[in-house]
Amino acid sequence: SKLWQARFFTTVNHLRDLPATHVPEIAFAGRSNAGKSSAINVLTNQKGLAFASKTPGRTQHINFFSIGGAHVAMHRKDETNVDEIQALLVDLPGYGYAEVSGTAKLHWQRLLGDYVQRREQLAALVLIMDSRRPFTELDIQMLEWFAPTGKPIHCLLTKVDKLNRNEATNALRQARQVLDSYEDEEGNPFPFTVQLFSSLKRVGLDEADAKILELLGL
Ligand code: GDP
Repeated sequence: SKLWQARFFTTVNHLRDLPATHVPEIAFAGRSNAGKSSAINVLTNQKGLAFASKTPGRTQHINFFSIGGAHVAMHRKDETNVDEIQALLVDLPGYGYAEVSGTAKLHWQRLLGDYVQRREQLAALVLIMDSRRPFTELDIQMLEWFAPTGKPIHCLLTKVDKLNRNEATNALRQARQVLDSYEDEEGNPFPFTVQLFSSLKRVGLDEADAKILELLGL
């Protein structure tokens, strides 16, 4: 897959530092521990790609990974040729850390809220939720920020390997019901898709890969 080309691009902690790129981005959001890093790593076929976001002090950062930039091998091996980048994958900070203080929470709210509502290059959102506990309060917050933009959301109900067939079918149906209740600013139906996923068992991998590439126009 083209997603296997993903390479670390940059990390930002303030909106003013967002990269001045002109390529489509797709952002991965989710409650901490939902399985976001595992999903990014399996989709990009790289074990440690979404690992930096977990190192202490980095949990509140937005990490960008580039697709399609040929590596400039001449001087610095890890430098990407910005002109050749076709798209960016964006790993948003996981939300819902119990230990996050009041000010850190406010910073999170502003950073994520402003990013998903205002970033023009943002083409779509991938919302990652544990299929056993979807739509936590902060997932709903994310939907409420993003739905008015009218841009599409693709939901991964992950860790589906922990559910039996009946539970999985129910999780999918209930998720569709919740997502059906949102609309954009003009009252149009909200363009969402939802699927079952497991990083561990590689369930839904092809479907997610195809969807992400489609949303990025790749
Ligand atoms: P993040 O905080 O959202 O980035 O979550 P991680 O990707 O680090 O995953 C959190 C925990 O869930 C880890 O212990 C993973 O091994 C586990 N996990 C992630 N994805 C799956 C999955 O598809 N199936 C199962 N059974 N466990 C998973």
